[in-house]
Amino acid sequence: MQNNYGVPALTFIKGDGAYVWDENGKKYLDFLGGIATNILGHAHPAIVKAVTNQVKELSHVSNFYAHQPGIELAEKLQDLTGDPAARIFFCNSGAEANEAAIKISRLTGRTEIIAAEGGFHGRTAGALSITGQETKRKPFEPLLPRVKFVPFDDLTAMRKAVSGRTAMVIVEPIQGENGVIVPKPGYLAGIRKICNSNGAIFAIDAVQTGMGRTGEWFGYESEGIHPDIITLAKGLGGGLPLGAMISLGNNVPAFKPGEHGSTFGGNPISCAAANAAIDFIVKKDLLEKIAYFGEYLKSELVEIPGVSEVRGRGLLLGIVLESNLASMIVAKAQGNGLLLNAPNKNVIRLAPALIVSKKQLKEFVKIFARTLNEVTNG
Ligand SMILES: *Cc1c(COP(=O)(O)O)cnc(C)c1O
Repeated sequence: MQNNYGVPALTFIKGDGAYVWDENGKKYLDFLGGIATNILGHAHPAIVKAVTNQVKELSHVSNFYAHQPGIELAEKLQDLTGDPAARIFFCNSGAEANEAAIKISRLTGRTEIIAAEGGFHGRTAGALSITGQETKRKPFEPLLPRVKFVPFDDLTAMRKAVSGRTAMVIVEPIQGENGVIVPKPGYLAGIRKICNSNGAIFAIDAVQTGMGRTGEWFGYESEGIHPDIITLAKGLGGGLPLGAMISLGNNVPAFKPGEHGSTFGGNPISCAAANAAIDFIVKKDLLEKIAYFGEYLKSELVEIPGVSEVRGRGLLLGIVLESNLASMIVAKAQGNGLLLNAPNKNVIRLAPALIVSKKQLKEFVKIFARTLNEVTNG
């Protein structure tokens, strides 16, 4: 394989709920969740059943034809947005969902895109062009032209950048890959106003914040706004590859036959898994629990010596450390049977399964406190 991921630290062979086991039989509490992907954890019975039944019946037909799981999922997503005008394009990943957003924004006749510094929207050429992290873009330039980056959480800069030439503004409700950065209340509402007065599309990249992770379905609802586009992936497929680009309202031009496509996008198996995941979250009323769990974790974690701040909402949290030892903590935690991730040198990101229990949160806090103590005090 290419070395783009470096040499992996472990090989896993099975999972169950919030736990995974490596090839030596060692058990880990998984607080990375496949990077915010396994929303129902590992091997969840609802996902296993949905996928098994679907693969027995019909696994792929191409997008020349319709299938029940796809129609059902489109209807569910439309309901979750609360907008009967919502129109959905299915793909396989977050980058592809953002590619679809970029392409559909071109149908306005405008070409400029405004994105945020530090933002992350994917690794394909188009999605990379709107990713506000220069080190990731630099080796692959020239990328798409007419993309401008403005500081995140800065409405003055946004107001200056957006004009009648702007096709689309795209931001994450919480910058995940950049270290779980939460903007001030009113930021998204402010962008909404700026887009309205310039006739620009407002796209929310909810690839990481979406599907209930923040205690809301997409992570922007508490701002009381309606974006024009939502992009989804990561948790959408309940652990299977699936992405979506959803247009809302009537500001966004619609794709006409032949203008876009994806062979595997919205295939029956991934859609069946997504339907099962959404049904489970709704049936178990998980959103309220997730919001509470986030507050609980914050209150416990800020008490630990060496933690300076805990950012984020629900089960997307960034533990800000007093030291720059995040990667050492990740390695040490792994030895202690806990999977974590460090998006940068002083932040630990948590994105566990949404089905995690209070008992597992307590187990996590205990291992994390011990790990931090071991790393700091030798
Ligand atoms: C992970 C991520 C992406 C890219 O998703 P892929 O499925 O890896 O292409 C895009 N946007 C955000 C906010 C993400 O967190």
